[in-house]
Amino acid sequence: MNREHRVVVIGAGMSGLLAGIRLRDVGIEDFTIYEKADDIGGTWRDNTYPGLACDVPSHVYSYSFAPNPEWSQRFSPGPEIHAYLEQTAKKFGVYDRVQLGKDVTRCEWADGQWHLETADGTTDRADFVICATGVLVKPRIPEIPGLDDFQGDVFHSARWDHDVSLAGKRVGVVGTGSTAVQIVTAVIEEVSELSLFQRTAQWIMPGANQDYSEAERESFRTDADAITALRVELDRSFTMQFSDALTDESSAGVKMIEDRCREHLEGKVLDPVLRERLRPDYRAACKRLVVADGFYEAMQQPNASLVTDAIDRFEPHGVRTRDGKLHELDVVVLATGFHAHDFMRPMNLTGRNGRTLDDAWGDTPRAYRSISMPDFPNFFMIVGPHSPIGNFSLIEISELQVDFALQLMERVRSGACSEICATAAATTGFNQSIQEAMKDTIWVTGCQSWYLDANGVPATWPWSVQRFRDTMATPIWGDFEQVSAT
Ligand code: NAP
Repeated sequence: MNREHRVVVIGAGMSGLLAGIRLRDVGIEDFTIYEKADDIGGTWRDNTYPGLACDVPSHVYSYSFAPNPEWSQRFSPGPEIHAYLEQTAKKFGVYDRVQLGKDVTRCEWADGQWHLETADGTTDRADFVICATGVLVKPRIPEIPGLDDFQGDVFHSARWDHDVSLAGKRVGVVGTGSTAVQIVTAVIEEVSELSLFQRTAQWIMPGANQDYSEAERESFRTDADAITALRVELDRSFTMQFSDALTDESSAGVKMIEDRCREHLEGKVLDPVLRERLRPDYRAACKRLVVADGFYEAMQQPNASLVTDAIDRFEPHGVRTRDGKLHELDVVVLATGFHAHDFMRPMNLTGRNGRTLDDAWGDTPRAYRSISMPDFPNFFMIVGPHSPIGNFSLIEISELQVDFALQLMERVRSGACSEICATAAATTGFNQSIQEAMKDTIWVTGCQSWYLDANGVPATWPWSVQRFRDTMATPIWGDFEQVSAT
C-alpha cells in the first residue's frame, strides 16, 4: 500500500499544469502547484505582443490527451493557446490546485523532505518537487548606454505595455529573432515608421499558415480519428523532419531547410540591396530557425527601414547608431530574447549535504537526461538542461519527461526506496556523450544563439526526437542512486 506522498510543482505553465494532470492520473492528490505570477500559462501569459503565435502546428502543440478541434489556424495565435491551457487545466481539475503569486525562493532538502518557502513567507514541505519553471522566462534587457534617458516608451517584448498605442508612431524594434519577426509583421500597417535594428540577419522559413475552415473544425469535432491522423502526419512531416535534420549538419533535411530559406528570401525580397542586407552569413537553422510568413513583405513597405549599423546609445529622442545617425523614435520594443540558461535560478536550491545549485552547475547547467541531478533526491526538472527545445512541440517533450519522473517517483511510492536521484557517474557520462554528439549538429556551425551556454555548447538535445522518446520510455535503474531510509 502506497503511503500518501506530497508533491509540490513549481510553475503553472504548460509543463507544470501537465504535471498536475498526470499526478492526478496516477492517483496522487496531495499536491500544490506554486506559480509566481498572477495567472497560469507561463510563456503564453507573459507574451502578449501583437502577432504572437506558435510556429509549431497547433494540432501537435496540444496535449496528447486533450486534442482541440477548435484551433483556428495551422499556427494558432498566442491568446488561443493561453485559453486552451486554462480550459485544459480546468477540465482536468488542476486549475484550482494552483496557488498564484507564490514565488518559490527557497527549496532545501532536509530530514528526508523538501522544505520550501515563497517570497511572501509561505512555507511548505514535500516528498517530491517537480520543477517546471520554463526556459524563455527572464527577459534579456540589453546593456545599451542611455536606455534610461529615452523619453519615449520602451519595453521588452515579453512585457508588452498595452497602454501604449503604436498607431501613427515611429517605432523601433531591436532584434531579429522569432519574436521581432512576428511583431514587425503585425504592426507595420499601424505605425507611421518602423525601424528594425538588426544586429544579425535571420534565416526565415515560410510557415504557410492557413485558417481551418468551419467544415474542417466540424470534422475534428465529430471524428476523433481525424485529429489523430493529422498528428501522425505532422509528426512525420514536421517533428521528425526538423529533429532528424538539425542534429546532423550534413543531412538532406538541413539542405532542404537551407534551400527553402534561401528561396524564401530570394523570391520575396525584390530589391537586391535590401535582399543582401537581410541575408545571413551563417547556415540556416544554426540559430533557432524562424518560421514565419509576411516578414519580408513587411520590410518592403515604404514605412519600414532596416538598420544594420550597430546601436551606439539611446538618447532622449531615439537611438543613435555608430554611423552617427539619430533614429528618432516614439516607442522602442526590445525583442532581445531571454536569459535561457537560468532555469529555476535565482531560487535558493540546496540538496543533500548542503550542496547548492551553484555548486552543481557553476555556469553550465547540466542534469541526467535533463531531469535529475545527483544529491538532489526526489527533485525532477521538466524542460531542464539539454531538453529537446528545437522547432518541434515542447508539449510532447514535457509529457515524456513528466512520465519519466513519475516512474522514478513510483520507486519511492512503492517503498522500494525513499530517495532517488541520478548518480554522479551517470550524469557525467550523459553529459560527455551530449558534448561529443553536439559536434555533428547544425547549432555549432558558426553562429551566436541563445542555445549556446557559457562554454559554447548548445543546451539542447543532440539526437533525434525518436531517440528522446526511447530514452524516456524506461529508466536505466543502474543510473540511479536509490536510498532507503534507515
Ligand atoms: P532571440 O531569438 O534570442 O533573439 C533576440 C534578438 O535580439 C536577436 O536578433 C539578437 O541579435 C538581438 N539582440 C540581443 N541583444 C541585442 C543588443 N544588445 N543589440 C542589438 N540586438 C540585440 O529572442 P526571441 O526572438 O524572443 O526568441 C526566443 C525564442 O523564443 C525563439 O528562438 C523561439 O524558440 C521562441 N519563440 C517562439 C515563437 C514561436 O512562434 N513558437 C515565437 C517567439 C519566440 P543576435 O542575433 O545578434 O544575437
